[in-house]
Amino acid sequence: MARYIFITGGVVSSLGKGLASAALGALLQARGYSVRLRKLDPYLNVDPGTMSPFEHGEVFVTDDGAETDLDLGHYERFTGVPARKTDSVSSGRIYSTVLEKERRGDYLGKTIQVVPHVTNEIKDYLRIGEAEVDFMLCEIGGTVGDIEGLPFFEAIRQFIHERPRGECILMHLTLLPYLAASGELKTKPTQHSVKELQSIGLAPDVLLLRSEHPIPEKEREKIALFCNVRKESVIAAYDLKTIYEAPLAYHREGLDQAVLDAFGISPAPRPNLTRWEDVMDRITNAEGEVRVAIVGKYTQLGDAYKSIAEALTHGGMANRTRVRIEWVDAELFEREDPAPHLQRFHAILVPGGFGERGTEGKIKAVEFARTRGVPYLGICLGMQMAVIEAARHLAGVTNAGSEEFDHEAGEKRFTPVIYHLKEWVQGNHVVERKLGDDKGGSMRLGAYNAKLTPGSRVAEVYGTLEIEERHRHRYEVDMTYRDKLEACGLMFSGMSPDGKLPEIVEVKGHPWFIGVQFHPELKSKPFAPHPLFADFIRAAVEASRLV
Ligand code: GLN
Repeated sequence: MARYIFITGGVVSSLGKGLASAALGALLQARGYSVRLRKLDPYLNVDPGTMSPFEHGEVFVTDDGAETDLDLGHYERFTGVPARKTDSVSSGRIYSTVLEKERRGDYLGKTIQVVPHVTNEIKDYLRIGEAEVDFMLCEIGGTVGDIEGLPFFEAIRQFIHERPRGECILMHLTLLPYLAASGELKTKPTQHSVKELQSIGLAPDVLLLRSEHPIPEKEREKIALFCNVRKESVIAAYDLKTIYEAPLAYHREGLDQAVLDAFGISPAPRPNLTRWEDVMDRITNAEGEVRVAIVGKYTQLGDAYKSIAEALTHGGMANRTRVRIEWVDAELFEREDPAPHLQRFHAILVPGGFGERGTEGKIKAVEFARTRGVPYLGICLGMQMAVIEAARHLAGVTNAGSEEFDHEAGEKRFTPVIYHLKEWVQGNHVVERKLGDDKGGSMRLGAYNAKLTPGSRVAEVYGTLEIEERHRHRYEVDMTYRDKLEACGLMFSGMSPDGKLPEIVEVKGHPWFIGVQFHPELKSKPFAPHPLFADFIRAAVEASRLV
């Protein structure tokens, strides 16, 4: 049975709990343990699938087709353990399950209450898959003291109480603010936040303290004493140059040792940190720099394309080069010529997206990349834009567009080369969807296989002819245009196994032009960069040498 580590946050939000959890997972792996990470989110949305990227950053998609919190992306990138649907649970999901059960009569006429019905449902979630791993790390979203987080904290209190002694610990992440006027780090907010935890029956075993300044021994002792935590378990989390430094930095500060001590695991297995040393070596000893433009819609918010930014960084690590990412608002190219804006970049990426806004600008960016021989990677909507661009400018379908934009506008304006996908094969059954279906979960979601064309660039890049990648889309390139588009130099070099759905398109004779209907960024890791990103950056490095 797994041991449980609960990770909570206090004082302020955005302290990097997800990252700390992921790094701790990586450190436990380095000591030979198996781990699974799980996120409990207090918000009432059933899942983040319908939330705007402005609200909640990127939606991370799992192999089993769940639309989850972006923290699951951190977990996967640091541990390489593929996240599952059951690794992300919100209050909304818990309440809707409880209410469904109530409607079905499962509770036999009882009054339904937060305690025990909601808390029991949360505890059931916590236990899923516990037999499979040594450690289950459960991060609770939000900050201690939030009203909506209470059922989760109460469920955890009960869970810890019900398990045998020594099987669960709690790690609390807080902030030590620095007062410049007095030149001091202040411990009071941390003390208050631990008090808040104690008032709901929880006591931290390990404190992780975010601080911009070195924490003096005296302050560490004070925190240990007042928060009732051993001094060696008061761990500093200083600002890092890169998130990938976290495992090594936290290890140096003694985080994994403190966690194993809290469980009474002695002697602790020695860690093997070579994976992370190599990752850091690739980052610190990178030579040169390439500039990549991401032409998208949510450019003010880096978190909206979190996995893409990370995958590009991994691509840089594969080539021992730094990748400078610049966000370019697609709508700019609807007013201005893209050339002066884009010509200083060594590669262009158009990411996934929904809705018509900005798409004409994205098409301009595609045209620029295609006609100027600039390496181009189109992801999901970015692939669809590449097809529309080719249809309009090469295949003579001058008003080519996507059904998505006509549906949104409520009128027919385009010749749809991208159509609404209503039926597809998953494994050995057919999935059907209607346009009016529920917005949440009405998409082709999760991992699907694709077959690659021998001799194509993607076959060379992947080094295999069968791949599995994650999807999240409703629309698809219409294959009735295949011959017309292929005659103009586009090649559909990746198809679904039944040969019906195009998965990859590439431009023949172009230095590097690939569009993919799936999201390769979701599977890239710092210690295993995704081949598409690694080769895209290789092409960017080559382009940078030509300038
Ligand atoms: N909006 C497009 C579709 O639904 C693309 C989706 C995406 O980029 N994730 O097919």
